[in-house]
Amino acid sequence: MHELSIASSVVEICAEQAHGARVRRVTLEIGQLSAVMPEAIRFCFDVCAKDTAVEGATLEIVEIPGQARCLACGATLDVEVPFGQCACGSEDLELIAGQQLKIRQMEVV
Ligand SMILES: [Zn+2]
Repeated sequence: MHELSIASSVVEICAEQAHGARVRRVTLEIGQLSAVMPEAIRFCFDVCAKDTAVEGATLEIVEIPGQARCLACGATLDVEVPFGQCACGSEDLELIAGQQLKIRQMEVV
């Protein structure tokens, strides 16, 4: 499962950066265009965190809406899928937000 490997690397990175401390809270940014299911990440996170410094940590997920810039007219538009059409009629879009998956913040005890 895609989400399992993501959750496992998130846990790994957090455990490493905690330098032996216990991780209390992890905030994750998940772009809505990243094709990652937040609920699946949440489930896998708990599984992967077991017996690590991250065990019992609260996982906060911030969903980042998709945004694209039209290369024809420069307008910025919200997109729910990684493609679309601008109001000017152009389909030449550059995605500028919503594809990321990153650890925004981590709190240790
Ligand atoms: Zn346009």
